Amino acid sequence: MQDAPSLLKNIFGYSAFRGQQGEIVAHIADGGHALVLMPTGGGKSLCFQIPALMRPGVAIVVSPLIALMQDQVATLLAQGVAAACLNSATSSDAAREIAQQARDGRLDLLYVAPERLLMPRFLAFLEQLQISLFAIDEAHCVSHWGHDFRPEYQQLGILAQRFPQVPRIALTATADEQTQLDILHYLQLAEARVFLSSFDRPNLYYQVIEKHNAKKQLLEFIRHEHVGASGIVYCLSRKRVDETAQWLCDNGIPALPYHAGLTHQLRDSHQRQFLREEGIVMVATVAFGMGIDKPDVRFVAHIDMPKSPENFYQESGRAGRDGLPAVSWLCYGLNDVVQLRQMIEGGEMAALQKQVELSKLDAMLAFCETASCRRQHILAHFGEQHAPCGHCDNCLYPPVTFDATVLVQKLLSCIYRVGQRFSTGHVIDVLLGRNTPSMAALGHDRLSTYGIGKDYNQRGWRSIIRQLVARQLLQVDIARGQSLVLTEACRPLLKGLQPIYLRPLADEKKARSHISGDRWLRTEREERLWQALRAWRRQIADEQNVPAYVIFTDRTLRDLVERHPTSRGELGRAYGLGELKLARYGDALLQLLCEAASTV
Ligand code: ADP
Ligand code: ZN
Repeated sequence: MQDAPSLLKNIFGYSAFRGQQGEIVAHIADGGHALVLMPTGGGKSLCFQIPALMRPGVAIVVSPLIALMQDQVATLLAQGVAAACLNSATSSDAAREIAQQARDGRLDLLYVAPERLLMPRFLAFLEQLQISLFAIDEAHCVSHWGHDFRPEYQQLGILAQRFPQVPRIALTATADEQTQLDILHYLQLAEARVFLSSFDRPNLYYQVIEKHNAKKQLLEFIRHEHVGASGIVYCLSRKRVDETAQWLCDNGIPALPYHAGLTHQLRDSHQRQFLREEGIVMVATVAFGMGIDKPDVRFVAHIDMPKSPENFYQESGRAGRDGLPAVSWLCYGLNDVVQLRQMIEGGEMAALQKQVELSKLDAMLAFCETASCRRQHILAHFGEQHAPCGHCDNCLYPPVTFDATVLVQKLLSCIYRVGQRFSTGHVIDVLLGRNTPSMAALGHDRLSTYGIGKDYNQRGWRSIIRQLVARQLLQVDIARGQSLVLTEACRPLLKGLQPIYLRPLADEKKARSHISGDRWLRTEREERLWQALRAWRRQIADEQNVPAYVIFTDRTLRDLVERHPTSRGELGRAYGLGELKLARYGDALLQLLCEAASTV
């Protein structure tokens, strides 16, 4: 039996545990129960995979999605670990064979969906086996509070009664306390040790910009920073998903749509393509993404504002699981806020729940509008204190606020003069002194505020209005045609008793991440080697019909390019090269590396 550090090196090819991994592994290997809260990409899988190899018997891993089980199993098999999965797609012959392997003790990990695990026959089958541990992945699915509620998950507490002596480990990347309490309760983990990691994702660059033409802005962003990269674009509605995917394709970016309105087959096939092929942009509603293990997603773009900081954090967190630089890019406008507010207010929820949702929306808007560190802001939302990070848009290009007192007074009095009965568009038309068809009919061209805002432009006024809404100096009255309404808080401003400082329009080009694509490549030779390695990986992955990252992640290839090992010994120290991969691919890699060194 190998110890944990040897397994880490020999099987997975990593030289050291990350964060709390080592402690968690030791605790589970020792028979303890655990709840592991770790951000996406933190390395949760190893926390149960290594104990599974250390303890006798087979580990049962509960996982909610078939496609992901398959890829995890493929990844393990490629590392020489005996793993299998049972799901609705497994033929009965294959299932019998897997069951036999488990009985014979030839299987280290068995992945199953919760529905199957809970079937009486399956539980009876498990009772005949020696079980090393139960791992419950995506454990937040037990909670109504989470975003991926799955009723079957709540019944998994049965494992505690039927298998009291088997260690159970629940894992999630969802941080909030209510979800955490639900997991402990439903999974009967009262005795579990809780391992809470920092939720910081240091390799994510956060950028937030104001929306004027979301699709064009998105295209610019992808063209400038992410040509050829895998990415996810989140939209608020199905229609917008379809339009945006089409728009990207029309402009030469390979994109696929994903939302609940597509057939099951189409969704599966798009998800599969996204996982398997390189450089695909998935345009999706929030229906897409739970448990997406693809490690090399280089950007997550929101072209509409997410409805809460929790959603934002989860969705953007799907970028950069491999630890390499990745971007969270968010483009938002006042209309998003109005639309989301409408959806909440018009929804079926109980009044209290609506209140909660509305306050989350306010928190999301505050994140978008903040002039201070984005990372500090989002982590504070999860109760973590951090110093400014130094590498988000606001840290790198601090917005200089300007004295907007006079502009704000003009705006507020204009809203007051039109009777607080008109929406943003019309208020701005009055400020700019535009001669629209309704202007004279309403008599608004005779108001004292008509044309007093000509010294500022339309986008500028929109930005001011949004900032005032974010600070709750203005409200958008949805029941009355989205009219802008003054709040009590703006009284001192109207009276000129208090100055106000706002952010000017951001320079979105300046705030680009500058981490794009393959810019880390230093020389032409490195460039060639990188391309050669990728082409080689593609070929092997196609032959085996698995995603490229199952063969090697980008991070491994990058390590090979940067360190350029030329002997077997050096190769063995490369990131993510365990014994099996070294044996299988070592010669081919050395040959590629030597050829690259000799060509001029
Ligand atoms: P999570 O499930 O927490 O999102 P994963 O388990 O998928 O994260 O791990 C993310 C990536 O980090 C994977 O490619 C994994 O192989 C890698 N990884 C995990 N632990 C380590 C480690 N100790 N050293 C280096 N890489 C690691
Ligand atoms: Zn910052």
